Amino acid sequence: MRITVAGLGVSGVPAARALAGLGATVTVVNGIDGERPRAQAAELEPLGVTVRLGDGDTLPEGTELVVTTPGWKPTSPLFVAAEAAGVPVWGDVELAWRLRGPDSAPWLAVTGTNGKTTTVRMLAAILEAEGLRTAAVGNIGVPLVDVVLGESTDRPYDVLAVELSSYQLHWAPSVRAHSATVLNLAPDHLDWHGSMEAYAADKGRIYEGNTVACVYNVADKATEDLVRSADVEEGCRAIGFTLGTPGPSQLGVVEGILVDRAFVENRQQQAQELAEVADVTPPAPHNIANALAAAALARAFGVRPTAVRDGLRAFHPDAHRIQHIADVDGVSYIDDSKATNTHAAEASLAAYEHIVWIAGGLAKGATFDELVTKSAARLRGVVLIGADRALIREALARHAPDVPVVDLDRTDTGAMPEAVREAARLAEPGDTVLLAPACASMDMFVNYNKRGDAFADAVGELTARDR
Ligand code: ADP
Repeated sequence: MRITVAGLGVSGVPAARALAGLGATVTVVNGIDGERPRAQAAELEPLGVTVRLGDGDTLPEGTELVVTTPGWKPTSPLFVAAEAAGVPVWGDVELAWRLRGPDSAPWLAVTGTNGKTTTVRMLAAILEAEGLRTAAVGNIGVPLVDVVLGESTDRPYDVLAVELSSYQLHWAPSVRAHSATVLNLAPDHLDWHGSMEAYAADKGRIYEGNTVACVYNVADKATEDLVRSADVEEGCRAIGFTLGTPGPSQLGVVEGILVDRAFVENRQQQAQELAEVADVTPPAPHNIANALAAAALARAFGVRPTAVRDGLRAFHPDAHRIQHIADVDGVSYIDDSKATNTHAAEASLAAYEHIVWIAGGLAKGATFDELVTKSAARLRGVVLIGADRALIREALARHAPDVPVVDLDRTDTGAMPEAVREAARLAEPGDTVLLAPACASMDMFVNYNKRGDAFADAVGELTARDR
């Protein structure tokens, strides 16, 4: 088959390699030419893959299938050309799904605007505690194509904890998970999807064809609506998770205990204790919700309650997700650089009482009125950085006019130490300085990791003299 792979990168290179290995005639097209694409091309060309750099718009002659990496917009000229020519477009996840063998491990799938990575990691930890062979894969950075093809040669998995982004779901029409969850739904990546409806519809695909459980967030009705409109296998159940007392077919919290009222024999009368809130790190409300979602998927797969507890205890969050950096002069410095949208920042701001908030970056089409309104009472002060900081400044002027704002008129990488010094000046003992930018980082940094590292370095440089 003649296959065009759209884009190099984290999933394009493995897809091209896998397809060439299976005997396809592969051309990779990449809009950008440069040092890194050239290095990647040099890696692929010995395998017989043709790489075309600098033109991502024209569909190569004779293409029978396009396999795309997640970043490409659905409106890209390449896909328009493919559609006109009647050529199907698959994402990397669709490709992986189609390449699975008959004995391939079932998928427990996780999507949502925020909390995906945390939840799949928690889920994998729980499955491991049950003694199952598993891995956290997908959007988390482990290409599914490699995992699926590796299964035939390596030790096979019992089950996979799969993180799927809305982009990946858009191009994965035939994926059928054992059980799946949409953790929450808030506006994000609307520039890619075109509208909130389109974004929600793509997220909702994760429930299509589920066999055992569709897990939704009781506090986020949109996720339940997606379950309702999904076409699932006969007998598949809708399971809710809630931070409150669970009803039948729900998991929830009762007096500091995570309980299951879904996967028990008599759910009208009984609830099963799973773990304590204190077993979850950090015990912030949104993270308890993540733990409940992970527990629901694991329980749907038949995991024992004690393994849920042991798995959650074994789990530690990745860096830059509400990571405590240091206490300086009685002020606590927290790096939540991964809060790249308003929904994540809102969860983060809700976890502390008195906050000096460092925010700003690329807004990706977001508005900040709701976030500022909900968080205003907690703000001791705000330091703004980045390209779209005016949007936040204006929302603050509208809804929190008394909160002092330092607007750093700079978008260079070196702005972070100044931002942290300004934040330190605004903070009082007992306060939290919170980097939760509510924006993407690429205007100032390579990625959110580098932004968080810059924050941690700047905190390290703080001295009493700066206050
Ligand atoms: P994702 O993989 O979806 O980006 P992460 O687990 O990496 O999610 O967390 C991303 C950001 O979202 C972090 O800043 C974290 O504080 C915040 N977050 C995590 N879980 C939730 C949740 N359930 N609701 C809202 N925000 C969350």
